[in-house]
Amino acid sequence: MKLLKKQLKPFVNKLSRIIDERDIITDQNTIGPHLIDWVGNFHGNSPLMITPRNKEQISQIAKLCSNENIAIVPQGGNTGSVAAGIPNGEIILSLKKMNKIIEINPNDYTITVQSGCILSQIQEAAKNASRFFPLSIGSEGSCTIGGNISTNAGGISVLKYGNMRDLVLGIEVVLADGRILNSLKRLRKDNTGYAIKHIFMGAEGTLGIITAASLRLFPKIENKVTGFASLKDLDSAIKLLEILKEFSGDLLTSYELIPAIGLHIATEYGDNITEPLKNREQWNVIIEFSDTKNNNNAHDILQESLQHSITQGIVLDAVIANSISQTNNIWKIRKAIVEHQPKLGGEIKHDVSVPISSVPEFIQTTIEKLREYIPNIRPVPYGHIGDGNIHFNVCPPIDYPEQLFKDKTSDIREIVYSNVNSLGGSFAAEHGVGIIKKKQMLKYKDKVELEIMKDIKALLDPKNIINPGKIL
Ligand SMILES: Cc1cc2nc3c(=O)[nH]c(=O)nc-3n(C[C@H](O)[C@H](O)[C@H](O)COP(=O)(O)OP(=O)(O)OC[C@H]3O[C@@H](n4cnc5c(N)ncnc54)[C@H](O)[C@@H]3O)c2cc1C
Repeated sequence: MKLLKKQLKPFVNKLSRIIDERDIITDQNTIGPHLIDWVGNFHGNSPLMITPRNKEQISQIAKLCSNENIAIVPQGGNTGSVAAGIPNGEIILSLKKMNKIIEINPNDYTITVQSGCILSQIQEAAKNASRFFPLSIGSEGSCTIGGNISTNAGGISVLKYGNMRDLVLGIEVVLADGRILNSLKRLRKDNTGYAIKHIFMGAEGTLGIITAASLRLFPKIENKVTGFASLKDLDSAIKLLEILKEFSGDLLTSYELIPAIGLHIATEYGDNITEPLKNREQWNVIIEFSDTKNNNNAHDILQESLQHSITQGIVLDAVIANSISQTNNIWKIRKAIVEHQPKLGGEIKHDVSVPISSVPEFIQTTIEKLREYIPNIRPVPYGHIGDGNIHFNVCPPIDYPEQLFKDKTSDIREIVYSNVNSLGGSFAAEHGVGIIKKKQMLKYKDKVELEIMKDIKALLDPKNIINPGKIL
C-alpha cells in the first residue's frame, strides 16, 4: 500500500512513461508543505508527489497504482480542516496543475472547470462573465474546487445558495482502476436513475479523483449591505433570522454568530479592528444582504428589519456599514476569530450542526456542561448560525496549564458531540471526517449508512488504494 523506499526508483521509472519528469517530485523540501495539515496538528510522510496535467495521465497513473498496489492521496490546496489530504506513506497526487477554466456559458448560467482551479479563480471568471459563483470560504485564495467538492464545503453563503453539493451539475472522476466516469453534464434535470455524482461529493477523496466539474452560476451581485447587531439573548438570534427572512425575501446571504469573547479576540489580537457598537454584548450577529440591483433596496429593507427588531426588544443595538472600510472591519472580526483563537492558550475545535431552531439550546446546555467539567472554561461558539452550523471551539480558563487542557481533549469532545447528538445534529457539519473524526463516525453514524458506505468503497476501490484510512 505504502510506497517503500526500495520501490521508489522502479516506480518512478514507470511513472516517467506516463508523465513529464518535471511532474514527478521526490525532493523532500518541495514535498514538505504537503505533509502538514493547515492547522499544523498532523505531520504525514510521503516519498513522492506527482502533479499530472490531464485526466488521461491520471487514468494511467491509477491503473499503474492499482496493478502495483500503491496507494494515492489526492490533494488540492491542502487547506482542509480534518487532515483528510495528509498522506501516511502513500504517494501524493496534487491537482494543482489541472487549473483550467474549460468553458463558461453565461446563457446557461454554468461554468466547467478542471478540479485544480482555485476557488477565487472561478469566482473571478464568473464575475468577468457578469455572473456569480456563490461558494465563499476563508480559504478561497488557496483551496481548489476539487477539494471543495470532495469536502462538500459550506461557508458563509449556504443560507441562500446551499453548500457545494447544491452547486455541482456534473462531475468527471478517475476511478481506482483507471476508468473515467464522465458525468460532466450541464443539466438541471437528469432523472436517469441513481445520482452517482453525489457519492463523490463529501467523499474526501476516498472513492476517486475528481478531474473536472460543471457548476451552477447565478446573476451577478451588484450591491452588498453588511450589518452588525447585538442581541437581547441567544434566542433572539433565531427570532431576528425569521424577521430578516420575512422582510427581505431572499436577500439574506449571510448570518454569522459572534460571541462577546469573539469580539475580545478580534480587537485584542486582530489587525486594527474596531468594535462596531458602543457596548459589547454577549451575543451578536453579522448580517449580509446581497442584491442583483444596484439601488437602496437592500439597505432600506435591512434598516427597516433592524428597526422593527429593536422595537420588539430582540435587537439591543445595530449598525449598517456605510463604507467599504466599515464593511471590511465587520468581516475582519469574523476572520480574526478563526486566526487568533489559539492565542487564548489553546483551542479544541468542533465543527457541528443542529436544526436551526435548536442552536440556542445547544449552545447554552453545552456551555453549562463544559463549565461543570472545568469551571471558567472559555467556549467560543461562533459562525454560520443561519444554517445551524456552529464552530463550537473551546479555550481553557485563563492561566490553565496547556498540557492539562490538551489531556482533557477527549472528555471535552465527548461533552460537545453527545449534546449535538441528543439534539439530532451532526458531529461533522462542513469540514468533514478525515482522520480526526473517525472515532465519532463509529459512535454516532447510523449503522446501516456506515455499512452502505463501506460497500460502496469496496465496490469502487476493492484494493483500497485511493486515500486509505480516511473517513472509514
Ligand atoms: C482559513 C480557512 C477557512 C476555512 N473556511 C471554511 C468554511 O467556511 N467552510 C468550509 O466548508 N471549509 C472551510 N475551510 C476548510 C477548507 O478550506 C475546505 O475544506 C476546502 O474545501 C478544502 O479544499 P482544498 O483544495 O484545500 O482540499 P485539500 O485540503 O487539498 O483536500 C481536502 C480533501 O479533499 C480531497 N481532494 C482534494 N482534491 C481532490 C480531487 N480533485 N479529487 C478527489 N479528492 C480530492 C483530499 O484527498 C482531502 O480528502 C477553511 C480552511 C481555512 C484554512
